[in-house]
Amino acid sequence: MVHGVMPIGRLAPSPTGAQHIGNARTFLLAWLSIRAQQGRMLLRIEDIDSPRVKAGAAEQAIADLRWLGLDWDEGPDCPGVAAPYVQSHRRALYAAALEQLIAAEWVYPCTCSRSDVAEAASAPHAIVGHEGPIYPGTCATRHAAEAHELKQPYAWRFRASRVDRVIDDRFMGRRQMNVARELGDFVVAKSDGSPAYQLAVVVDDHHMGVTEVLRGDDLLTSAFRQLELYEFFGWSPPQFAHVPLVVGPDGRRLAKRHGDTRLATLREQGVSPERLVGFLAWSCGLGDAPTACRPAELVAEFTLQQMSHEPVVLDDTMFKSLSP
Ligand code: GLU
Repeated sequence: MVHGVMPIGRLAPSPTGAQHIGNARTFLLAWLSIRAQQGRMLLRIEDIDSPRVKAGAAEQAIADLRWLGLDWDEGPDCPGVAAPYVQSHRRALYAAALEQLIAAEWVYPCTCSRSDVAEAASAPHAIVGHEGPIYPGTCATRHAAEAHELKQPYAWRFRASRVDRVIDDRFMGRRQMNVARELGDFVVAKSDGSPAYQLAVVVDDHHMGVTEVLRGDDLLTSAFRQLELYEFFGWSPPQFAHVPLVVGPDGRRLAKRHGDTRLATLREQGVSPERLVGFLAWSCGLGDAPTACRPAELVAEFTLQQMSHEPVVLDDTMFKSLSP
């Protein structure tokens, strides 16, 4: 505990499909980190990405996490002060935050489609950043008030600053990025009126009192965008820890093409959660062998320091070694 402040972490599954081995590893790390600091853990269901949300997937995520042996102090199934825990029940908070951004002219209505952005980016002098094309600023001269006159659908785009932002990541160390130059203006509310991930996650982490965000390192660049929002609202950002993902033998992030690594399937096949946890812990450098164990047994020896910075490659032999 730092200066008597109770660390608060969160497990934030998106119910867009079943949780797989890769998600399980990140959740285990997030849980261990908070439990090792005697902190509080929240469970938040990130269901605002509506077209991809699958019915029953939130219940499935909860069942998967419980099966692994993880627990939380507050969540949809055990509400407390940070309620509600499902993003679709928190829309009023996102709407209020968006209003503030609009009133400050920090966002502008953007009518560019994905293909408009891609096309502009293929122009000879276009800038391509870490995550593809940087928004070329086509709509950036628009004022917020012009939104009412627009006949076509529009998203709200945040005016990224030219400040070099620094993150002292608990795992990756000191990282620096200039959001305007390297990532560009980003969407905070989509054309259907729903909040984009960047806005929802900042509003939630702030209002829920989250002090530590441990998640996959695919979200490191998002953390810099999120810092822009924290600064705008005058909120203090959490401590970030971005950890390597599990990848398939082709080096790409674990997905369907790598076979069925869903926790629900493993459970049906009779794989024990202890075996999976032991394997995941060992993949994080905890222990000398993949010895079956419960997450709670790992808390005492937990540290992020011995974990490799390379992604974990899940190949067939490793996967089969989990079988009963
Ligand atoms: N809901 C996101 C996911 O499942 C996590 C977002 C975050 O941790 O900020 O990938």
